[in-house]
Amino acid sequence: MEDIVASLRKELGERVVRTDSEVLSAHRRDTWVVSDLRDLEGRPGPDPLAVVEACSTADVVATLRLCREARVPVVPYGGGSGVCGGVVVPEGGVVLSTRELSGLLHLEPHDLTATFRAGTNGMEAERLVERECLTIGHWPQSIGLSTVGGWVATRASGQYSTAYGNIEDMLLDLEAVLPDGRILRTRRTPRASVGPDLRQVFLGSEGVFGVITEVTLSLRRRPEASRGQAFHFESLQVGIEPVRRMIAAGWRPPVVRLYDSRESERHFPEACPTGRAMLILLHEGPSSLVDVQYSAVGEICREAGGVEADVAAVQKWFERRNDVPGFRPFLEQGVVLDTIEVACPWSRVAELYQQAIGALEGVPGILLASAHSSHSYRSGTNLYITFLARPEDRDDMEATYRECWRRTLDATVAAGGGISHHHGIGRVRRDRLVDEIGVSGVALLRSLKHALDPDDLLNPGVLLPGPTSGGAA
Ligand SMILES: Cc1cc2nc3c(=O)[nH]c(=O)nc-3n(C[C@H](O)[C@H](O)[C@H](O)COP(=O)(O)OP(=O)(O)OC[C@H]3O[C@@H](n4cnc5c(N)ncnc54)[C@H](O)[C@@H]3O)c2cc1C
Repeated sequence: MEDIVASLRKELGERVVRTDSEVLSAHRRDTWVVSDLRDLEGRPGPDPLAVVEACSTADVVATLRLCREARVPVVPYGGGSGVCGGVVVPEGGVVLSTRELSGLLHLEPHDLTATFRAGTNGMEAERLVERECLTIGHWPQSIGLSTVGGWVATRASGQYSTAYGNIEDMLLDLEAVLPDGRILRTRRTPRASVGPDLRQVFLGSEGVFGVITEVTLSLRRRPEASRGQAFHFESLQVGIEPVRRMIAAGWRPPVVRLYDSRESERHFPEACPTGRAMLILLHEGPSSLVDVQYSAVGEICREAGGVEADVAAVQKWFERRNDVPGFRPFLEQGVVLDTIEVACPWSRVAELYQQAIGALEGVPGILLASAHSSHSYRSGTNLYITFLARPEDRDDMEATYRECWRRTLDATVAAGGGISHHHGIGRVRRDRLVDEIGVSGVALLRSLKHALDPDDLLNPGVLLPGPTSGGAA
């Protein structure tokens, strides 16, 4: 195993191949709760043999080629903010970090495009285009923790998605290095009819099919005006209908967030009476459009029984929209928690909500089960479900966590929902992928993986259901 570190150093230089213990330890895992819990319980996963801080596509090519020759697993690492166990380094593995593969390569204000190196931090990318009065319009809560390459690799979604779309709607082209070191580049055209879209192989690929090295995103002008609006409803089930109606009518507030009564009480105690469900909206665009949309959406909400609430609630959300919650203090007190984002058609939202919350409430030790909808589409919406549970016995924390996930995904599938809206599969959902894409879909992905990476060396254990050749499940 020392050989691979020596050969990487010989090819790439000492500076690129890090073996200092803090660096190794910091790249063992992402932000998955289970990895945090295992650290806390004194059973952490192994450190990587080395962290390659690639500075160029050529460095990525060399790393993949050398590791393939030596049959050493390689785990791509962006910002490490993934929450599904997409980064859990297997014994004897190497981490390929995109941290140094960072920066803006081209900005074309006329065409509204920007090309970034894949490791560019999300907030930095936004700041770089803001200078030209432009925006990416992709604003995940984790914008300051994640990378543009990570957004593509996880099919991420931003808080403004209802108007601006998700990362797949912004991705114009990409460069990726395949597991054998070949470079693939798609073309930067606004649309193409040239057979299957190869960008889709990498959107949501979670480091399994290649390493994304460059990403071109389509941009927008910064909006001329923005205006908040808030209503409260009898319940989430009641409030979801006006949301459906406004989207069906063609209105597109970028931010449309409907919280159940538990979350409304937690986040908006000043603006939302106890037991009611809070809806916050943010309108953006040319000022004339914002005014018209504000009035039309307001009318739809009032007709559906919505009561206008203090718009300060929207400002409060806006100011806190990138706060990063710390899960560790909960784990230290014996409480397991997580968020599970799922999606479903409008006709099944109320059922899914009831079934999932009901299922979670049956878990021994459950303290809280709640949800909100935060990304809406013509044909449906997402539910972002939160659970907290304290098992009687601390040794049961991981089992309780798994049980909460199992029940939520069972309820989601039974209600005709999709198992992930935007966090991805990683390890936590990989054995449920079959519920989403069926046996044939899994077989197709396996064939693709085998064709590209026959020895299963690139991020083994992620995305595809077990059995796995590497990494703890
Ligand atoms: C507090 C918090 C809030 C969050 N909010 C959101 C949100 O609003 N919306 C949302 O979508 N997600 C959210 N997430 C999840 C996470 O931020 C996203 O999944 C993000 O896109 C991951 O990017 P990253 O650069 O950190 O990737 P990493 O965590 O480093 O990696 C994620 C996966 O992608 C692979 N990967 C990373 N970079 C590359 C690359 N260049 N080429 C190939 N594979 C690669 C990794 O191997 C891994 O499997 C949140 C996470 C946290 C902790």
